[in-house]
Amino acid sequence: MRAEGTETVRRILCVFPRYTSSFGTFEYAYPLTDGVQAFMPPQGLLLIAAYLPANWQVRFIDENLRPATMEDFEWAEAVFVSGMHIQRQQMNDICRRAHAFDLCVAIGGPSVSACPDYYPSFDYLHVGELGDATNELIARLARDPSRPEEQVVLTTKDRVSMTEFPIPAYELAEVKKYFLGSIQYSSGCPYQCEFCDIPGLYGRNPRLKTPQQIIAELDKLRECGVTGSVYFVDDNFIGNRKAALDLLPHLIEWQKRTGYVMRLACEATLNIAKRPEILEKMREAFFITVFCGIETPDPDALKAMHKDHNMMVPILEGVRTINSYGMEVVSGIIMGLDTDKPETGDALIRFVEESRIPLLTINLLQALPKTPLWDRLEKEGRLIHDDDGRDSNVNFLLPYDQVVDSWRKCMEVAYEPAKLFARYEHQCDYTYTQRIKVPISPEQKSWANIKRALIMLRNIFWKVGVLGDYKKVFWKFALRRLRRGDIEGLIASSMIGHHLIMFARAASGGQQNASNYSIRLREASVPAE
Ligand code: SF4
Repeated sequence: MRAEGTETVRRILCVFPRYTSSFGTFEYAYPLTDGVQAFMPPQGLLLIAAYLPANWQVRFIDENLRPATMEDFEWAEAVFVSGMHIQRQQMNDICRRAHAFDLCVAIGGPSVSACPDYYPSFDYLHVGELGDATNELIARLARDPSRPEEQVVLTTKDRVSMTEFPIPAYELAEVKKYFLGSIQYSSGCPYQCEFCDIPGLYGRNPRLKTPQQIIAELDKLRECGVTGSVYFVDDNFIGNRKAALDLLPHLIEWQKRTGYVMRLACEATLNIAKRPEILEKMREAFFITVFCGIETPDPDALKAMHKDHNMMVPILEGVRTINSYGMEVVSGIIMGLDTDKPETGDALIRFVEESRIPLLTINLLQALPKTPLWDRLEKEGRLIHDDDGRDSNVNFLLPYDQVVDSWRKCMEVAYEPAKLFARYEHQCDYTYTQRIKVPISPEQKSWANIKRALIMLRNIFWKVGVLGDYKKVFWKFALRRLRRGDIEGLIASSMIGHHLIMFARAASGGQQNASNYSIRLREASVPAE
Protein backbone atom coordinates (compact mmCIF):
# COMPACT_ATOMS: atom_id res chain seq x y z
CA MET A 1 0.00 0.00 0.00
CA ARG A 2 1.16 3.54 -0.76
CA ALA A 3 -0.16 6.94 0.16
CA GLU A 4 -2.67 8.25 -2.32
CA GLY A 5 -1.20 10.10 -5.25
CA THR A 6 -1.38 13.86 -5.32
CA GLU A 7 -1.57 16.18 -8.27
CA THR A 8 1.57 17.91 -7.20
CA VAL A 9 4.81 16.02 -7.56
CA ARG A 10 7.32 16.58 -4.76
CA ARG A 11 10.99 15.77 -4.39
CA ILE A 12 11.76 14.27 -1.00
CA LEU A 13 15.27 13.76 0.32
CA CYS A 14 15.38 11.02 2.98
CA VAL A 15 18.53 11.30 5.09
CA PHE A 16 19.58 8.70 7.64
CA PRO A 17 22.07 10.04 10.20
CA ARG A 18 25.46 8.61 11.01
CA TYR A 19 25.66 6.21 13.91
CA THR A 20 27.69 7.03 16.93
CA SER A 21 30.35 4.37 17.12
CA SER A 22 28.96 1.41 19.00
CA PHE A 23 29.82 -2.11 19.94
CA GLY A 24 27.04 -3.46 17.78
CA THR A 25 27.77 -1.68 14.52
CA PHE A 26 30.96 -3.64 13.80
CA GLU A 27 32.88 -0.83 12.17
CA TYR A 28 36.29 -2.29 13.02
CA ALA A 29 35.31 -5.28 10.87
CA TYR A 30 34.57 -3.23 7.75
CA PRO A 31 38.20 -2.87 6.61
CA LEU A 32 38.40 -6.66 6.54
CA THR A 33 35.44 -6.99 4.18
CA ASP A 34 35.17 -6.40 0.47
CA GLY A 35 33.85 -2.85 0.81
CA VAL A 36 31.24 -2.79 3.57
CA GLN A 37 30.80 0.73 4.87
CA ALA A 38 27.73 0.68 7.10
CA PHE A 39 25.80 -1.57 9.41
CA MET A 40 22.21 -2.22 8.18
CA PRO A 41 19.86 -0.48 5.76
CA PRO A 42 17.42 1.55 7.88
CA GLN A 43 14.06 -0.17 7.59
CA GLY A 44 11.95 2.78 8.70
CA LEU A 45 13.19 5.44 6.32
CA LEU A 46 13.10 2.98 3.41
CA LEU A 47 9.55 2.09 4.40
CA ILE A 48 8.43 5.71 4.29
CA ALA A 49 10.23 6.13 0.98
CA ALA A 50 8.18 3.24 -0.38
CA TYR A 51 4.96 4.63 1.12
CA LEU A 52 5.19 8.09 -0.47
CA PRO A 53 2.87 8.72 -3.45
CA ALA A 54 4.04 6.81 -6.51
CA ASN A 55 4.49 9.99 -8.53
CA TRP A 56 6.77 11.65 -5.94
CA GLN A 57 10.50 11.52 -6.44
CA VAL A 58 12.58 10.18 -3.59
CA ARG A 59 16.30 10.27 -2.99
CA PHE A 60 17.72 8.26 -0.10
CA ILE A 61 21.04 9.10 1.54
CA ASP A 62 22.55 7.12 4.37
CA GLU A 63 25.17 9.39 5.88
CA ASN A 64 26.99 6.31 7.10
CA LEU A 65 27.88 5.82 3.44
CA ARG A 66 28.19 9.40 2.28
CA PRO A 67 26.99 12.79 3.48
CA ALA A 68 24.09 14.56 1.85
CA THR A 69 25.63 17.13 -0.49
CA MET A 70 24.77 20.63 -1.54
CA GLU A 71 23.45 19.15 -4.76
CA ASP A 72 21.10 16.84 -2.81
CA PHE A 73 19.71 19.70 -0.76
CA GLU A 74 19.33 21.89 -3.84
CA TRP A 75 17.42 19.08 -5.57
CA ALA A 76 15.01 18.51 -2.67
CA GLU A 77 11.76 20.24 -1.79
CA ALA A 78 11.59 18.69 1.68
CA VAL A 79 13.81 16.52 3.86
CA PHE A 80 12.81 13.51 5.96
CA VAL A 81 15.03 12.34 8.79
CA SER A 82 14.73 9.42 11.17
CA GLY A 83 16.75 7.72 13.86
CA MET A 84 17.11 6.80 17.47
CA HIS A 85 18.27 8.65 20.57
CA ILE A 86 21.90 7.85 20.02
CA GLN A 87 21.73 9.67 16.66
CA ARG A 88 20.09 12.76 18.15
CA GLN A 89 22.96 15.16 17.54
CA GLN A 90 23.42 13.96 14.00
CA MET A 91 19.70 14.37 13.27
CA ASN A 92 19.73 17.92 14.58
CA ASP A 93 22.77 18.56 12.43
CA ILE A 94 20.98 17.36 9.28
CA CYS A 95 18.11 19.69 10.16
CA ARG A 96 20.51 22.61 10.51
CA ARG A 97 22.11 21.87 7.12
CA ALA A 98 18.73 21.52 5.41
CA HIS A 99 17.53 24.79 6.91
CA ALA A 100 20.56 26.49 5.40
CA PHE A 101 18.81 25.74 2.08
CA ASP A 102 15.50 26.92 3.53
CA LEU A 103 14.12 23.42 3.25
CA CYS A 104 11.27 22.12 5.34
CA VAL A 105 12.47 19.18 7.51
CA ALA A 106 10.33 16.43 9.00
CA ILE A 107 11.51 13.94 11.59
CA GLY A 108 9.98 10.58 12.44
CA GLY A 109 11.19 7.40 14.08
CA PRO A 110 11.71 5.98 17.53
CA SER A 111 13.58 8.89 19.10
CA VAL A 112 11.16 11.68 18.24
CA SER A 113 8.22 9.39 19.04
CA ALA A 114 9.53 8.96 22.58
CA CYS A 115 10.96 12.45 23.06
CA PRO A 116 9.51 15.15 20.81
CA ASP A 117 11.24 17.75 23.02
CA TYR A 118 14.63 16.67 21.72
CA TYR A 119 13.85 18.20 18.33
CA PRO A 120 12.78 21.84 18.68
CA SER A 121 14.25 22.96 15.33
CA PHE A 122 12.41 20.59 13.03
CA ASP A 123 9.42 21.87 11.06
CA TYR A 124 7.33 18.71 11.34
CA LEU A 125 7.49 16.13 14.08
CA HIS A 126 5.97 12.80 13.13
CA VAL A 127 5.17 11.06 16.37
CA GLY A 128 4.18 7.40 16.34
CA GLU A 129 4.04 4.86 13.60
CA LEU A 130 3.08 4.90 9.93
CA GLY A 131 -0.53 6.03 9.79
CA ASP A 132 -2.83 9.05 9.71
CA ALA A 133 0.00 11.38 10.76
CA THR A 134 2.00 10.23 7.74
CA ASN A 135 -0.94 10.90 5.41
CA GLU A 136 -1.41 14.33 6.95
CA LEU A 137 2.27 15.14 6.50
CA ILE A 138 2.10 14.10 2.85
CA ALA A 139 -1.06 16.14 2.29
CA ARG A 140 0.49 19.24 3.86
CA LEU A 141 3.66 18.93 1.82
CA ALA A 142 1.61 18.39 -1.34
CA ARG A 143 -0.21 21.64 -0.61
CA ASP A 144 2.86 23.59 0.40
CA PRO A 145 6.40 22.32 0.86
CA SER A 146 7.72 25.51 2.43
CA ARG A 147 8.60 25.76 6.09
CA PRO A 148 5.61 26.34 8.37
CA GLU A 149 5.81 29.35 10.66
CA GLU A 150 5.76 27.18 13.75
CA GLN A 151 6.66 23.61 14.42
CA VAL A 152 3.81 21.22 13.55
CA VAL A 153 3.43 18.03 15.57
CA LEU A 154 1.53 15.22 13.84
CA THR A 155 0.71 12.21 15.98
CA THR A 156 -0.47 8.90 14.58
CA LYS A 157 -3.71 7.72 16.10
CA ASP A 158 -4.78 5.38 13.36
CA ARG A 159 -1.85 3.16 12.35
CA VAL A 160 -1.51 1.49 8.96
CA SER A 161 -1.79 -2.24 9.53
CA MET A 162 1.55 -3.94 9.01
CA THR A 163 -0.17 -6.24 6.53
CA GLU A 164 -0.59 -3.12 4.38
CA PHE A 165 3.03 -2.02 4.60
CA PRO A 166 4.79 -1.70 1.27
CA ILE A 167 8.12 -3.42 0.78
CA PRO A 168 10.81 -1.01 2.01
CA ALA A 169 12.47 0.73 -0.91
CA TYR A 170 15.62 -1.40 -0.72
CA GLU A 171 16.34 -0.48 -4.32
CA LEU A 172 17.19 3.06 -3.19
CA ALA A 173 19.86 1.84 -0.78
CA GLU A 174 23.23 0.52 -1.82
CA VAL A 175 22.48 -2.73 -0.04
CA LYS A 176 25.77 -4.37 -0.94
CA LYS A 177 27.63 -1.81 1.14
CA TYR A 178 25.94 -2.95 4.35
CA PHE A 179 27.27 -5.46 6.82
CA LEU A 180 23.84 -7.06 7.20
CA GLY A 181 20.53 -7.01 5.40
CA SER A 182 17.51 -6.18 7.55
CA ILE A 183 13.88 -7.21 7.52
CA GLN A 184 10.96 -6.88 9.94
CA TYR A 185 8.09 -9.30 10.53
CA SER A 186 6.60 -8.03 13.79
CA SER A 187 6.64 -5.02 16.09
CA GLY A 188 6.05 -4.97 19.83
CA CYS A 189 6.73 -7.33 22.71
CA PRO A 190 4.43 -8.87 25.33
CA TYR A 191 6.92 -8.49 28.19
CA GLN A 192 7.59 -5.44 30.32
CA CYS A 193 11.23 -5.39 31.27
CA GLU A 194 11.76 -2.33 33.40
CA PHE A 195 14.45 -0.69 31.27
CA CYS A 196 12.88 -1.31 27.85
CA ASP A 197 10.91 1.22 25.82
CA ILE A 198 9.51 -1.25 23.29
CA PRO A 199 6.20 -2.12 25.02
CA GLY A 200 5.53 1.58 25.72
CA LEU A 201 6.29 2.66 22.17
CA TYR A 202 5.01 -0.24 20.11
CA GLY A 203 2.64 -2.16 22.32
CA ARG A 204 2.51 -5.52 24.04
CA ASN A 205 0.49 -7.28 21.42
CA PRO A 206 2.89 -7.76 18.50
CA ARG A 207 1.63 -6.50 15.18
CA LEU A 208 2.54 -8.59 12.19
CA LYS A 209 3.15 -8.68 8.51
CA THR A 210 2.07 -11.76 6.60
CA PRO A 211 4.53 -14.52 5.68
CA GLN A 212 3.85 -13.65 2.04
CA GLN A 213 5.08 -10.10 2.64
CA ILE A 214 8.26 -11.43 4.19
CA ILE A 215 8.88 -13.75 1.27
CA ALA A 216 8.34 -10.89 -1.17
CA GLU A 217 10.79 -8.76 0.84
CA LEU A 218 13.38 -11.51 0.83
CA ASP A 219 12.97 -11.82 -2.93
CA LYS A 220 13.48 -8.10 -3.27
CA LEU A 221 16.55 -8.09 -1.03
CA ARG A 222 17.97 -10.86 -3.15
CA GLU A 223 17.19 -8.99 -6.35
CA CYS A 224 18.99 -5.99 -4.91
CA GLY A 225 22.07 -8.11 -4.33
CA VAL A 226 21.92 -9.14 -0.65
CA THR A 227 23.43 -12.57 -0.25
CA GLY A 228 25.00 -12.72 3.20
CA SER A 229 23.16 -12.40 6.49
CA VAL A 230 19.74 -10.91 7.01
CA TYR A 231 18.66 -9.77 10.46
CA PHE A 232 15.06 -9.85 11.61
CA VAL A 233 14.91 -6.60 13.57
CA ASP A 234 11.71 -7.64 15.36
CA ASP A 235 11.78 -6.70 19.02
CA ASN A 236 11.17 -10.31 19.91
CA PHE A 237 10.89 -12.89 17.13
CA ILE A 238 8.81 -15.13 19.42
CA GLY A 239 6.72 -12.28 20.88
CA ASN A 240 3.89 -14.11 19.16
CA ARG A 241 4.95 -17.75 19.05
CA LYS A 242 2.15 -18.83 16.77
CA ALA A 243 3.13 -16.15 14.26
CA ALA A 244 6.74 -17.36 14.34
CA LEU A 245 5.55 -20.89 13.70
CA ASP A 246 3.37 -19.68 10.84
CA LEU A 247 6.27 -17.89 9.20
CA LEU A 248 8.99 -20.51 9.55
CA PRO A 249 7.69 -23.06 6.98
CA HIS A 250 7.61 -20.24 4.42
CA LEU A 251 11.20 -19.33 5.23
CA ILE A 252 12.27 -22.96 4.94
CA GLU A 253 10.55 -23.25 1.59
CA TRP A 254 12.12 -20.01 0.38
CA GLN A 255 15.59 -21.10 1.45
CA LYS A 256 15.18 -24.42 -0.36
CA ARG A 257 13.93 -22.67 -3.46
CA THR A 258 16.73 -20.11 -3.56
CA GLY A 259 19.58 -22.40 -2.48
CA TYR A 260 20.07 -21.06 1.07
CA VAL A 261 21.66 -17.86 -0.13
CA MET A 262 20.89 -16.06 3.11
CA ARG A 263 21.81 -16.72 6.70
CA LEU A 264 19.16 -15.51 9.08
CA ALA A 265 19.44 -13.91 12.49
CA CYS A 266 16.95 -12.46 14.95
CA GLU A 267 16.33 -11.19 18.47
CA ALA A 268 14.33 -13.38 20.80
CA THR A 269 13.79 -13.92 24.47
CA LEU A 270 15.85 -16.66 26.07
CA ASN A 271 12.75 -18.73 26.80
CA ILE A 272 12.92 -19.69 23.13
CA ALA A 273 15.05 -22.51 24.57
CA LYS A 274 11.82 -24.06 25.85
CA ARG A 275 10.38 -24.26 22.35
CA PRO A 276 12.10 -27.08 20.46
CA GLU A 277 9.39 -26.98 17.80
CA ILE A 278 10.42 -23.39 16.97
CA LEU A 279 14.16 -24.02 17.29
CA GLU A 280 14.04 -27.01 14.97
CA LYS A 281 12.26 -25.01 12.28
CA MET A 282 14.68 -22.12 12.74
CA ARG A 283 17.52 -24.54 12.19
CA GLU A 284 15.88 -25.72 8.97
CA ALA A 285 15.32 -22.13 7.88
CA PHE A 286 19.06 -21.52 8.38
CA PHE A 287 18.89 -19.15 11.31
CA ILE A 288 22.44 -19.00 12.56
CA THR A 289 22.37 -16.33 15.27
CA VAL A 290 19.93 -15.32 17.99
CA PHE A 291 20.40 -12.18 20.04
CA CYS A 292 19.07 -12.78 23.55
CA GLY A 293 18.84 -10.04 26.13
CA ILE A 294 20.25 -12.14 28.94
CA GLU A 295 21.06 -8.87 30.78
CA THR A 296 22.51 -10.53 33.88
CA PRO A 297 23.11 -14.02 35.23
CA ASP A 298 21.86 -12.86 38.67
CA PRO A 299 18.33 -14.19 39.35
CA ASP A 300 17.60 -11.43 41.89
CA ALA A 301 18.48 -8.83 39.31
CA LEU A 302 16.28 -10.49 36.68
CA LYS A 303 13.39 -10.48 39.11
CA ALA A 304 13.94 -6.84 40.00
CA MET A 305 13.92 -5.78 36.33
CA HIS A 306 10.81 -7.88 35.63
CA LYS A 307 12.64 -10.18 33.32
CA ASP A 308 11.62 -13.38 35.08
CA HIS A 309 11.00 -15.02 31.73
CA ASN A 310 14.77 -15.36 31.40
CA MET A 311 14.62 -17.83 34.28
CA MET A 312 12.20 -20.25 32.66
CA VAL A 313 15.24 -22.40 31.98
CA PRO A 314 18.60 -22.12 33.73
CA ILE A 315 20.46 -19.56 31.64
CA LEU A 316 23.47 -21.69 30.74
CA GLU A 317 21.22 -24.57 29.83
CA GLY A 318 19.15 -22.24 27.64
CA VAL A 319 22.26 -21.05 25.80
CA ARG A 320 23.44 -24.62 25.23
CA THR A 321 20.03 -25.66 23.95
CA ILE A 322 19.98 -22.84 21.39
CA ASN A 323 23.56 -23.74 20.39
CA SER A 324 22.51 -27.33 19.88
CA TYR A 325 20.27 -26.16 17.04
CA GLY A 326 23.23 -24.58 15.30
CA MET A 327 22.53 -21.05 16.47
CA GLU A 328 25.13 -18.89 18.14
CA VAL A 329 23.77 -16.80 20.99
CA VAL A 330 24.67 -13.14 21.13
CA SER A 331 23.92 -11.70 24.52
CA GLY A 332 23.05 -8.29 25.87
CA ILE A 333 24.41 -7.62 29.38
CA ILE A 334 23.70 -4.65 31.62
CA MET A 335 25.88 -3.38 34.43
CA GLY A 336 25.01 -0.72 36.98
CA LEU A 337 21.79 -2.35 38.10
CA ASP A 338 20.47 -1.59 41.58
CA THR A 339 21.07 -5.22 42.49
CA ASP A 340 24.76 -5.10 41.47
CA LYS A 341 27.31 -5.74 44.17
CA PRO A 342 31.07 -5.15 44.22
CA GLU A 343 31.55 -8.74 43.07
CA THR A 344 29.11 -8.50 40.10
CA GLY A 345 31.93 -7.92 37.61
CA ASP A 346 33.71 -11.12 38.61
CA ALA A 347 30.46 -13.08 38.39
CA LEU A 348 29.96 -11.70 34.92
CA ILE A 349 33.41 -12.71 33.79
CA ARG A 350 32.70 -16.23 35.07
CA PHE A 351 29.45 -16.23 33.13
CA VAL A 352 31.23 -15.20 29.93
CA GLU A 353 33.66 -18.10 30.35
CA GLU A 354 30.99 -20.66 31.19
CA SER A 355 28.48 -19.64 28.56
CA ARG A 356 31.15 -19.64 25.81
CA ILE A 357 29.22 -16.84 24.15
CA PRO A 358 31.69 -14.95 21.98
CA LEU A 359 29.75 -11.73 21.50
CA LEU A 360 28.24 -10.07 24.54
CA THR A 361 27.31 -6.43 24.45
CA ILE A 362 28.16 -5.27 27.93
CA ASN A 363 26.62 -1.87 28.56
CA LEU A 364 25.98 0.36 31.50
CA LEU A 365 22.37 0.82 32.47
CA GLN A 366 20.82 3.78 30.71
CA ALA A 367 17.33 5.00 31.55
CA LEU A 368 15.34 5.58 28.38
CA PRO A 369 12.35 7.90 28.33
CA LYS A 370 8.97 6.13 28.29
CA THR A 371 10.17 3.23 30.42
CA PRO A 372 9.13 2.13 33.91
CA LEU A 373 12.80 2.50 34.89
CA TRP A 374 12.78 6.15 33.91
CA ASP A 375 9.62 6.78 35.93
CA ARG A 376 10.98 5.00 38.99
CA LEU A 377 14.33 6.74 38.93
CA GLU A 378 12.70 10.08 38.36
CA LYS A 379 10.58 9.55 41.47
CA GLU A 380 13.67 8.52 43.41
CA GLY A 381 15.55 11.59 42.14
CA ARG A 382 18.19 9.38 40.52
CA LEU A 383 18.06 10.58 36.92
CA ILE A 384 20.95 12.74 35.82
CA HIS A 385 19.83 15.04 33.03
CA ASP A 386 22.73 17.30 32.33
CA ASP A 387 26.08 15.66 32.80
CA ASP A 388 27.64 14.97 29.41
CA GLY A 389 30.77 13.62 31.06
CA ARG A 390 28.97 10.56 32.40
CA ASP A 391 28.43 7.33 30.55
CA SER A 392 24.96 6.87 32.00
CA ASN A 393 22.07 9.06 33.08
CA VAL A 394 21.46 6.82 36.10
CA ASN A 395 22.72 7.61 39.57
CA PHE A 396 23.85 4.09 40.47
CA LEU A 397 23.61 2.73 43.98
CA LEU A 398 27.28 1.76 43.84
CA PRO A 399 29.78 4.60 43.30
CA TYR A 400 29.86 5.64 39.64
CA ASP A 401 33.62 5.17 39.26
CA GLN A 402 33.41 1.69 40.72
CA VAL A 403 30.71 0.68 38.23
CA VAL A 404 32.61 2.11 35.24
CA ASP A 405 35.87 0.50 36.37
CA SER A 406 34.12 -2.82 36.73
CA TRP A 407 32.62 -2.43 33.24
CA ARG A 408 36.05 -1.63 31.79
CA LYS A 409 37.58 -4.65 33.46
CA CYS A 410 34.82 -6.91 32.13
CA MET A 411 35.37 -5.61 28.60
CA GLU A 412 39.10 -6.06 28.89
CA VAL A 413 38.93 -9.63 30.20
CA ALA A 414 36.02 -10.80 28.02
CA TYR A 415 37.71 -9.61 24.85
CA GLU A 416 41.24 -10.65 25.62
CA PRO A 417 42.12 -12.24 22.22
CA ALA A 418 43.02 -15.72 23.50
CA LYS A 419 39.82 -15.94 25.54
CA LEU A 420 37.64 -14.67 22.72
CA PHE A 421 39.10 -17.03 20.14
CA ALA A 422 38.74 -19.93 22.55
CA ARG A 423 35.01 -19.15 22.73
CA TYR A 424 34.85 -18.96 18.94
CA GLU A 425 36.68 -22.25 18.69
CA HIS A 426 34.00 -23.79 20.86
CA GLN A 427 31.26 -22.31 18.67
CA CYS A 428 32.93 -23.58 15.50
CA ASP A 429 33.20 -27.09 16.91
CA TYR A 430 29.97 -27.43 18.86
CA THR A 431 27.46 -24.94 17.45
CA TYR A 432 28.23 -24.35 13.81
CA THR A 433 28.56 -28.09 13.26
CA GLN A 434 24.90 -28.51 14.27
CA ARG A 435 23.71 -26.44 11.34
CA ILE A 436 22.01 -28.07 8.41
CA LYS A 437 24.33 -28.89 5.57
CA VAL A 438 23.18 -26.63 2.82
CA PRO A 439 23.86 -27.29 -0.84
CA ILE A 440 26.31 -24.97 -2.53
CA SER A 441 24.16 -22.62 -4.56
CA PRO A 442 25.15 -21.24 -7.96
CA GLU A 443 25.43 -17.83 -6.26
CA GLN A 444 27.98 -19.24 -3.82
CA LYS A 445 29.91 -20.92 -6.61
CA SER A 446 29.94 -17.78 -8.70
CA TRP A 447 33.21 -16.05 -9.40
CA ALA A 448 31.88 -12.89 -7.73
CA ASN A 449 31.35 -14.77 -4.48
CA ILE A 450 34.68 -16.57 -4.63
CA LYS A 451 36.39 -13.25 -5.29
CA ARG A 452 34.62 -11.76 -2.27
CA ALA A 453 35.84 -14.55 -0.03
CA LEU A 454 39.39 -14.21 -1.37
CA ILE A 455 39.39 -10.47 -0.74
CA MET A 456 38.21 -11.02 2.82
CA LEU A 457 40.79 -13.71 3.44
CA ARG A 458 43.54 -11.52 2.05
CA ASN A 459 42.44 -8.64 4.27
CA ILE A 460 42.20 -10.85 7.35
CA PHE A 461 45.57 -12.53 6.78
CA TRP A 462 47.30 -9.24 6.08
CA LYS A 463 45.66 -6.90 8.58
CA VAL A 464 45.30 -9.38 11.43
CA GLY A 465 47.72 -12.19 10.64
CA VAL A 466 50.65 -9.99 9.59
CA LEU A 467 50.09 -6.49 10.91
CA GLY A 468 47.93 -7.36 13.93
CA ASP A 469 49.30 -7.45 17.46
CA TYR A 470 47.50 -10.65 18.44
CA LYS A 471 48.68 -12.63 15.43
CA LYS A 472 49.88 -15.63 17.44
CA VAL A 473 46.42 -16.22 18.85
CA PHE A 474 44.88 -15.57 15.46
CA TRP A 475 47.08 -18.06 13.61
CA LYS A 476 46.49 -20.76 16.18
CA PHE A 477 42.77 -20.37 15.55
CA ALA A 478 43.10 -19.85 11.78
CA LEU A 479 45.30 -22.89 11.18
CA ARG A 480 42.87 -25.17 12.99
CA ARG A 481 40.03 -23.80 10.87
CA LEU A 482 42.03 -24.21 7.69
CA ARG A 483 42.94 -27.80 8.58
CA ARG A 484 39.23 -28.54 8.94
CA GLY A 485 38.36 -26.73 5.72
CA ASP A 486 36.18 -24.32 7.68
CA ILE A 487 36.74 -21.17 5.65
CA GLU A 488 33.38 -19.73 6.57
CA GLY A 489 33.99 -20.13 10.31
CA LEU A 490 37.41 -18.61 9.85
CA ILE A 491 36.18 -15.53 8.00
CA ALA A 492 33.12 -14.87 10.18
CA SER A 493 34.85 -15.38 13.53
CA SER A 494 37.96 -13.43 12.56
CA MET A 495 36.04 -10.44 11.28
CA ILE A 496 33.68 -10.12 14.22
CA GLY A 497 36.43 -11.08 16.66
CA HIS A 498 38.66 -8.31 15.33
CA HIS A 499 35.92 -5.75 15.86
CA LEU A 500 35.26 -6.97 19.39
CA ILE A 501 38.92 -6.91 20.36
CA MET A 502 39.54 -3.45 18.93
CA PHE A 503 36.34 -1.95 20.29
CA ALA A 504 36.87 -3.45 23.74
CA ARG A 505 40.38 -2.03 23.84
CA ALA A 506 39.07 1.40 22.97
CA ALA A 507 36.36 0.97 25.59
CA SER A 508 38.61 -0.21 28.37
CA GLY A 509 40.98 2.59 27.48
CA GLY A 510 38.12 5.04 27.99
CA GLN A 511 37.71 6.01 24.32
CA GLN A 512 34.24 4.52 23.88
CA ASN A 513 31.30 5.17 26.07
CA ALA A 514 29.70 2.52 28.16
CA SER A 515 26.05 2.91 27.44
CA ASN A 516 25.65 1.87 23.84
CA TYR A 517 22.25 0.42 24.43
CA SER A 518 21.85 0.87 20.68
CA ILE A 519 23.04 -2.66 20.08
CA ARG A 520 19.46 -3.79 20.34
CA LEU A 521 19.19 -2.74 16.74
CA ARG A 522 15.97 -0.93 17.35
CA GLU A 523 17.12 1.84 15.04
CA ALA A 524 16.32 -0.27 12.06
CA SER A 525 12.83 -1.00 13.17
CA VAL A 526 9.61 0.08 11.58
CA PRO A 527 7.88 2.80 13.40
CA ALA A 528 7.02 6.25 12.45
CA GLU A 529 9.40 7.07 9.73
S1 SF4 B 1 13.82 -6.22 26.72
FE1 SF4 B 1 13.13 -7.66 25.16
S2 SF4 B 1 11.74 -9.03 26.25
FE2 SF4 B 1 11.97 -7.22 27.52
S3 SF4 B 1 10.25 -5.91 26.92
FE3 SF4 B 1 12.02 -5.29 25.72
S4 SF4 B 1 11.83 -6.42 23.80
FE4 SF4 B 1 10.50 -7.42 25.32
